[in-house]
Amino acid sequence: MPMTGTFMLPQLITLAGANTVARCEDAARSKMSGSDQSSFQPKATTPDGIKIEKAARALLKSVLKQSVDDRREFGGVIYRDDTTGKIGWTGPFRGHASGRVDVQQDAENRGCPVGTTPVAWYHTHPVKEFYNIQNGVLITMGAEWDKFIGGDEDLSNKWGLTGYVATFDGRFWRYDPPPSTMINGKPTSEAFAKGRWGPLNGKL
Ligand SMILES: [Zn+2]
Repeated sequence: MPMTGTFMLPQLITLAGANTVARCEDAARSKMSGSDQSSFQPKATTPDGIKIEKAARALLKSVLKQSVDDRREFGGVIYRDDTTGKIGWTGPFRGHASGRVDVQQDAENRGCPVGTTPVAWYHTHPVKEFYNIQNGVLITMGAEWDKFIGGDEDLSNKWGLTGYVATFDGRFWRYDPPPSTMINGKPTSEAFAKGRWGPLNGKL
């Protein structure tokens, strides 16, 4: 999940249960707006799409083990050079908690160089459960690691970016926002239409 809006110190996120709260809200929101969480197997079919997917796979593969070992999300943004068509990327950035990573989506051009267009973002879901300590008691909560909801969905829909995810079990997933979400950089009335989410063929 990307960091959005208010920012909390990493140790507070980990220890004060902020994560848990955020995730609960995400789950509730997801139920209301309801992205289509049924599985499908999208596959890039254009040369450009294949290049982007290849980059996402390689980036996620390079960082998944460390992400799982550290219990930290990692992620970044993938972009296309407007002149050459070449694919590049930011990150992978190390997250501040097991359920959060700032991929700089709120920066100018999503943190990508001038003269490029962001086309996708990628991040890891390294844990099955979140741990929080509340009043000295250890609390665990399912991380909804196999879902693309809340902040994940918001980021993709808001910016019209395909979302690639690597989960701790080595699977590689893709989310496609509804195509009509953005027109000229502004959300449309279809902004709450369903996106598509599911695992891609093969492990990383
Ligand atoms: Zn996520």
